[in-house]
Amino acid sequence: AQESDRLKSAFLANMSHEIRTPMNGILGFSELLKTPNLSGDEQQKYIGIIEKSGNRMLNIINDIVDISKIEAGLMKLDIKESNINEQIEYIYTFFKPEVEAKGMQLFFKSTLPTKQATIKTDREKVFAILTNLIKNAIKYSDEGSIEFGYVLKTVGEVAELSKKAELEFFIKDTGIGIPKDRQKAIFERFIQSDIDDKKARQGAGLGLSITKVYIEMLGGKIWVKSEEGNGSTFYFTLPYNAELKEKNSAKEIEVTNNTENHGKNLKILIAEDDEVSSELLSTIVGEFSNKILIAKNGNEAVEICRNNPDIDVILMDIEMPEINGYEATVKIRTFNKDVIIIAQTAFGLTGDREKSLDAGCNDYITKPINKHELNSLIKKCFKK
Ligand code: ADP
Repeated sequence: AQESDRLKSAFLANMSHEIRTPMNGILGFSELLKTPNLSGDEQQKYIGIIEKSGNRMLNIINDIVDISKIEAGLMKLDIKESNINEQIEYIYTFFKPEVEAKGMQLFFKSTLPTKQATIKTDREKVFAILTNLIKNAIKYSDEGSIEFGYVLKTVGEVAELSKKAELEFFIKDTGIGIPKDRQKAIFERFIQSDIDDKKARQGAGLGLSITKVYIEMLGGKIWVKSEEGNGSTFYFTLPYNAELKEKNSAKEIEVTNNTENHGKNLKILIAEDDEVSSELLSTIVGEFSNKILIAKNGNEAVEICRNNPDIDVILMDIEMPEINGYEATVKIRTFNKDVIIIAQTAFGLTGDREKSLDAGCNDYITKPINKHELNSLIKKCFKK
């Protein structure tokens, strides 16, 4: 009980610090932006800090939500065929600029031919595991390189290959390393490797514990080999349950849309009850559209859609008063099969995507909405 109390206090102190620090950046620099006669450079600098702080805040919130879901036993798996090589290449492309911006190098290694690199697992969890470990490798290294990848290990008889084989992943950095006596504790909640917090870089000490839970849920284990000052290698395993079918069974709604070149001609309905979010969306899609309609709840969205059969795109918030976005989409689909509906939610939970697609949405985006992501999503929907 004492230990649990100590952890709870550590949690609160840590959360309070972790949330206040980015808020300090956001509110402080928003205030400073109001200073008259700021130069363009100064404005850009302040905006950059606000953006960075916002992202940091989002990371911590995501971690808290994940840990709470784990604690409540609500974290579920969504097992499908997933190609590991594709994921590794995607992650490589994603992190390369960040690593290079630090003056470091990023390498990856996929040892199986892509056709044999499909396993049945939870794709989003594997993505979260790898990105968490790579983010840490970047965060806790100042020079050198980061290498990640996997090898196929067979345990037991060759005849039983497909049953007992596993993929052993590694993420190797040339960073600050972890003292021997802390190598176990770092996988616990809220624990950072140096107790005095002297070297601790931003973070709440949740990443590795979430990562560990995910790996164990997927039937693997995680461990670390590290030497202070020389870098760390994190290892984890996933069962290799090879599936030879190459096609993924992901359901996608067929869009029968023959709209070709849109310029500014798209007619867009924004269904969103939160004013700030609605304002943000209108501003972003202003690039595609000078005909923007707004609905403040699910019923309004259905009605507006009924009265405007020429709407091209609906940005459908899921959490809305009266009827929610899923229900509104189902209703709209009874009389309009062509309009492109993109669900937008603030939950970011596994399963939301499937629920949106099942309801009849064409695609799905999570808040905070990123301008480039939304633009390319809309473009993608029209290409299908
Ligand atoms: P956070 O990074 O938010 O503190 P984590 O749970 O991801 O939380 O990591 C826990 C601790 O483990 C970190 O605070 C850090 O001290 C240590 N750690 C994790 N990854 C590395 C790494 N690649 N190199 C050195 N130390 C690491």
